[in-house]
Amino acid sequence: MSTSANDIRSLARELVGEVGEKVLMLLIQVKEPLSDEEISEKLGLRINDVRKALYDLVKLGLVSYKRMTRRDSYWHVYKWYTDEKMISQALLRRKKEVLRKLEARLRYESENVFYMCPVDGSRYSFDEVFENYFRCPRCGSDLVEVDNTQIVEKLRELVDKLRREIENDEKVLSGRSV
Ligand SMILES: [Zn+2]
Repeated sequence: MSTSANDIRSLARELVGEVGEKVLMLLIQVKEPLSDEEISEKLGLRINDVRKALYDLVKLGLVSYKRMTRRDSYWHVYKWYTDEKMISQALLRRKKEVLRKLEARLRYESENVFYMCPVDGSRYSFDEVFENYFRCPRCGSDLVEVDNTQIVEKLRELVDKLRREIENDEKVLSGRSV
């Protein structure tokens, strides 16, 4: 699968910020469940920041936890871990979200007519143009119709590429779980 360390790193940073990225990369590296205190110690980060990051990572399905009972007491400790499959699935979900957004954008671009101001380059949908009597709301110039075939083509390319990637990822993932 095309899951590289860089993909994971940038996804984590984008979704859960710098602390989340550090926590995730640590859990990948150590390959064993760690408590929030151990994580906080190893990374030199405040426990509250680590807990918040763990919460976000769990919500995204990038990290999971198990409850462990300590032998010497009745205390329970939560240990946090991740694995390749969890991460691959989280990346796949993310790609699907991006695909949905691209598809929506593609529909919007191909089903609508757009107008542009020849003076300041601002762009408007038909509804906006109609409300403003085909004049630029910024400078009052007459608006001209935009040919957006290039944008539509570019979007279509991106959608196709991502669809193929998702299909491939799904094949790899289902192959792995059988
Ligand atoms: Zn204008």
